[in-house]
Amino acid sequence: MPNKGTYFVDVILPIAIPQSYTYCVPEEFNSSLEIGKRVIVQFGKQKIYAALISAIHQNKPKEIETKNILSVLDEKPVINTIQLNLWKWLSDYYMCTIGEVMNAALPAGLKLSSQTNILLNPEFDHDYSKLDDKEYLLTEALIVRKALTLNEAEKIIEIKTVIPVIKSLIAKKVIIAEEELVETYKPKTETYIRLSDKCRDDKILKEIFDKLDKAPKQLELLMSFIHLTKKFEKYNGEIKKSTLLKSINSSDATLNSLVKKNIFESIDKVTDRVGFADSVPHKLFKLSEYQKKALNEINDSFEIHDVVLLKGVTSSGKTEIYFHLIEEVLKQGKQVLYLLPEIALTSQIINRLTKFFGNNVLVYHSRFNNNERVEIWNKVLEDNSAKIVLGARSAVFLPFKNLGLIIVDEEHENSYKQFEPIPRYHARDTAIYLAKLHKSKTLLGSATPAIESFYNARNNKYGLVEIHQRFGNIKLPEITIVDIKEERKIKRMQSDFSMTLLESIKETLANNEQVILFQNRRGFAPHLECDSCSWVPMCKNCDVVLTYHKQVNQMVCHYCGYSINPFSKCPACNDTNIKMRGTGTEKIEEELSIFFPQAHIARFDLDSTRKKQSYQRIISDFEDGRINILVGTQMITKGLDFENVSIVGIINADNMLNFPDFRAFERSFQLMSQVSGRAGRRKKQGKVIIQTRNPKHPVINEILHYNYERMYERELFERHRFNYPPYFRLIKITLKHRDKSIVSSAADYLAANLKKELKNRVLGPEFPFIPRTHNLFMKDILIKLEKTKTSNTLKDIIRKNLNAFKTIKNFQSVRTYVDVDVM
Ligand SMILES: [Zn+2]
Ligand SMILES: [Zn+2]
Repeated sequence: MPNKGTYFVDVILPIAIPQSYTYCVPEEFNSSLEIGKRVIVQFGKQKIYAALISAIHQNKPKEIETKNILSVLDEKPVINTIQLNLWKWLSDYYMCTIGEVMNAALPAGLKLSSQTNILLNPEFDHDYSKLDDKEYLLTEALIVRKALTLNEAEKIIEIKTVIPVIKSLIAKKVIIAEEELVETYKPKTETYIRLSDKCRDDKILKEIFDKLDKAPKQLELLMSFIHLTKKFEKYNGEIKKSTLLKSINSSDATLNSLVKKNIFESIDKVTDRVGFADSVPHKLFKLSEYQKKALNEINDSFEIHDVVLLKGVTSSGKTEIYFHLIEEVLKQGKQVLYLLPEIALTSQIINRLTKFFGNNVLVYHSRFNNNERVEIWNKVLEDNSAKIVLGARSAVFLPFKNLGLIIVDEEHENSYKQFEPIPRYHARDTAIYLAKLHKSKTLLGSATPAIESFYNARNNKYGLVEIHQRFGNIKLPEITIVDIKEERKIKRMQSDFSMTLLESIKETLANNEQVILFQNRRGFAPHLECDSCSWVPMCKNCDVVLTYHKQVNQMVCHYCGYSINPFSKCPACNDTNIKMRGTGTEKIEEELSIFFPQAHIARFDLDSTRKKQSYQRIISDFEDGRINILVGTQMITKGLDFENVSIVGIINADNMLNFPDFRAFERSFQLMSQVSGRAGRRKKQGKVIIQTRNPKHPVINEILHYNYERMYERELFERHRFNYPPYFRLIKITLKHRDKSIVSSAADYLAANLKKELKNRVLGPEFPFIPRTHNLFMKDILIKLEKTKTSNTLKDIIRKNLNAFKTIKNFQSVRTYVDVDVM
């Protein structure tokens, strides 16, 4: 914190500009400078931002004029230097700007937005004759709305830049403009009442009592206050206003009179909305012999490796091992970050965590509102009691001070990869880097690790600990493969169900046990089709077939949400014979209710869990046995634990296997193994029935024998042959534009330039599997980079070409998206 002389700060602005900006610091602010604090700066002519200090120095930038910072916003830094280093790594690795990282990392409540507000001029004489059409429109809107931001004004008069209109209206004295910073985060406060300084004297207090004789209500309130402060001595003579008023049913007016008379003082205090659970920690369960062995192996491996992969079959009790590791880290006085792939899973784990670790647990994920997120942020920043943070991927951005361990559970899940908005980071890989910055360790856990992780473990980059036993020595479920092509031939299929599956469900229900059915498509029928001309309804915004949802009787686009009523006759040939093709979860649910009218059936997919709490409700209904059969998409595969499920059915394995993606086989193996693992947990061996038209498929065979290694070796061979991960790093550049020919010529141009330097590492451009969504055409350029020391130089080449591309006039409206480590 420098004192004298002229200083400069480099700041990060929350926008997509390539570098940080330098501002000059007026001497009055010198003493409050600190890296990680926010400062208010003007950027461009109109915009004001809260920017983050990333460096403080005395090097006056040459060639450019520097503006002054307007003020320093924070008393203490809102981020620490470790976070700053993480941001720099993210922006470099994922090829985005550091401003974009800041936007993703900071909760919205800590980001200040500049909004130029325009108001009606109180001196406006309402002479409309001097206004042109646009000016009139805006003025009219202001009479109704009182104040508008520039963005809102732009929308009203529907032009790109509203500034000339505003300027003219100001000149005509119709409106006034004010630059205003709006702080979006408002901490929740609670008003407390205490005696004013002069009244904290028994003698004076007695005089006051005498004087208040004529105001009995005020006297009563004062007496109640004295009574309460004695009762709650620990509150330092301060009582919550609400408690005080309630104690004698007093009114605000009575209290205000006492404040006016300077007898009481009222103070506002920031309170916590994120309460910790009030529980007394239990002792951890004792580990079984094989769990103890795994725990020791993990600790030994951490002596050599920064990252250890724990590969344990489903139901092997990985969570208990995590808990013992957490306990050890807490004893060292350090923090633990516990990452889960799915927000909904946090509620299953949080109860167990608080049971053992009491109020040392915090939860952080994107479903919290802004205020809650800021509060948790500040807690981690300031409070030393927040020792375990449980969260989904965005929790990697919290301001940890001394992380001792990061656990990434179900590390193979692709929901760890962020897609929108930029940066497209992978939370597992980010966690590993974050742990490195804290000089701490990362534990990855999975029954079916990502190929990349297992490859790193096999090559000794990570440590590897394996558990082959299930808890209580229960055998892995017995898997039956049903060839639905054959079954259909001999008429043993009823709609989408084989007799084998139906009979197993019947038996299970008779035993009062539960069933999980997995179908990876939601909706009723993936599409409708005209029986005579084969016409298929498509989305008007995307090159996507509309899915029929029977419950709402709509055809819906799963990409943009566009929906229309189903057709009663074909718009192409007028035939009324419209057929449904394919099967979604809704149809499975409906058919089951016909086969098993007595059973309670529920659906678990994106549509049935959209409402807040509905996710949790379905899970607890199933846990408590109020649901007999649960039909779901891949949402049901993600590490949920149910006690009474004895059979799992996979309706159609082929949808997954046929997906056009180099990871399709790996993912199919992971999904089907994970969903199979839901069968027959704690009590007895379960059963899995997989329906497929392709029973000889290698992946089906690997699942049948729980042979992860064989899947791994086969995949590795293919990946090596075609230059895919883990041998190569994939970078995809997607170009988007409304106009198909513009996106094509832009992609051709960019690809040709990239190929000049990167040669045959560059593939494409090609239209993706779905070439248009949200009315934008897309073209992909795929770059395969070898993992050598030169890969950074190669990335620089990509960066250079992208920057050059952005300066080309004809392509300025083409948007580019870079995705490093495509999933
Ligand atoms: Zn037709
Ligand atoms: Zn669409």
